[in-house]
Amino acid sequence: MLYELGTEREFCNCGNLMKRESTFRHRRGDYDNSYYTIEIFEIFTCLACNEATLICYSALGNDDEDEINRDDVEKELYREYHRTVLHAPNKRLHHAIPRSIAEVTYQAQSVLSKSPRASFILCRAVLEEICNDFKVPAQSLNNKGKSHFVNLNERLIQLFEQERMSEDLIAIIQGIRELGNEGTHSDHLTFAKQVKVEDADNLLMLVNYVIERLYADKCRQQEAAEVLSKLKGKISNYTNSL
Ligand SMILES: [Zn+2]
Repeated sequence: MLYELGTEREFCNCGNLMKRESTFRHRRGDYDNSYYTIEIFEIFTCLACNEATLICYSALGNDDEDEINRDDVEKELYREYHRTVLHAPNKRLHHAIPRSIAEVTYQAQSVLSKSPRASFILCRAVLEEICNDFKVPAQSLNNKGKSHFVNLNERLIQLFEQERMSEDLIAIIQGIRELGNEGTHSDHLTFAKQVKVEDADNLLMLVNYVIERLYADKCRQQEAAEVLSKLKGKISNYTNSL
């Protein structure tokens, strides 16, 4: 995602607005050519939860293309930045999300800035944990009575049927599995060239969406139904007593 410096407000993982605490600017040149990289590291603290978040904004520049009269600060202004979150508090997951699933999701988030590839692999591992939680077996017996491993694709197909999942959710889960496979099976350098921190961040966003739909929504639905029936009970008692 391209980011224009200083134009956006930054929000904490808890959802609240953050305050800019300090900024560190760094310029890295290349001796062989006229290209350079501007890196701006900013520390934010959250006005609500008080946690710190570190974000790096980076942009490429070229001395040959810069206008001569601009100083370094001006040069920083006239370009678009890539935004990478280097450190952030964990997104707080809904209490209905089982612990094993929440832990792997947190791990996927914590390795994100160091290894998008590790994060991809962990996102795929969240799907394995979901299968475990819904008791979809990881092993099965063949017709000779010998046990063999069931791959994730087969387990998911079983899960979709068992839980009667909607098509839109199935498409997203299958997408996470396929992208996670890329992380697992493709060669490292090709993968590292293609996949950046922001891509891993987006994949994690999809994982969060899936676990919210599977666990949190169900829980909220039940809570809403209970509130409704309590309300109805109270109001009808009240009307009956009139
Ligand atoms: Zn916060």
